Amino acid sequence: MKKIGIIGGMSWESTIEYYRIINSEINKRLGGVHSASMFIESYDFQEIEELQHKGEWTKMAEILSQTAVKLEKCGADFLLIATNTMHKVAPHVANSVNIPLLHIADATAEAILKENYSRVALLGTKFTMQKDGFYLEKLADEYNLDVIVPDEASQDEVHRIIFDELCKGLILDESKNKLLEIIDNCRNNGAEAVVLGCTELPNIIKTSSLPIINTTEVHCLAAVEKALAKEIKE
Ligand code: GLU
Repeated sequence: MKKIGIIGGMSWESTIEYYRIINSEINKRLGGVHSASMFIESYDFQEIEELQHKGEWTKMAEILSQTAVKLEKCGADFLLIATNTMHKVAPHVANSVNIPLLHIADATAEAILKENYSRVALLGTKFTMQKDGFYLEKLADEYNLDVIVPDEASQDEVHRIIFDELCKGLILDESKNKLLEIIDNCRNNGAEAVVLGCTELPNIIKTSSLPIINTTEVHCLAAVEKALAKEIKE
């Protein structure tokens, strides 16, 4: 089994889900008391969150790259960044090491295509929903998917719920209903499925009027495939 290196703690409310899903899937496939072989570097998210909101992406690219190098030296065979947002710096992180980085948007796109959806809604932080090429356009340009995002006011609300509540472990009915309403609007705008493009969103949304693509889960399952594959494929 290959050793997984996880760059996590962004927030720990979702990194704990990575730990749970990857271990339980390995056990499901291998039986006995098998569990995954992995390293996790878990940051103090307050520091990262402040840098995100100051727009200091170069600094964050450096921090994540240093961790990537450390995990490679420890013996990780491949890496995961356990958040959608921080994939904004994924190219820099990937270039800093000689082991592969399993990109969350690739795992997500493959899950969307497997279900034959062509028009999907994307919910996540404002960084992820912005049209700056790192996530939305990756899905559109590399996978030919039609991706819609909620209107500006709804984007603000999703962003607020993620940082003020979900990253603190708060699951509130009022916010859940608001998110479900936003998903309903996306359905009315022609979306065939909703991508929960923030790794904490599956902690609050379990079902909706649209089929769900859970990015935490698809990223973890892709990691399990890779961990159990005979060869590491780039
Ligand atoms: N984990 C979240 C995501 O998947 C948000 C926290 C962050 O900004 O990294 O985007």
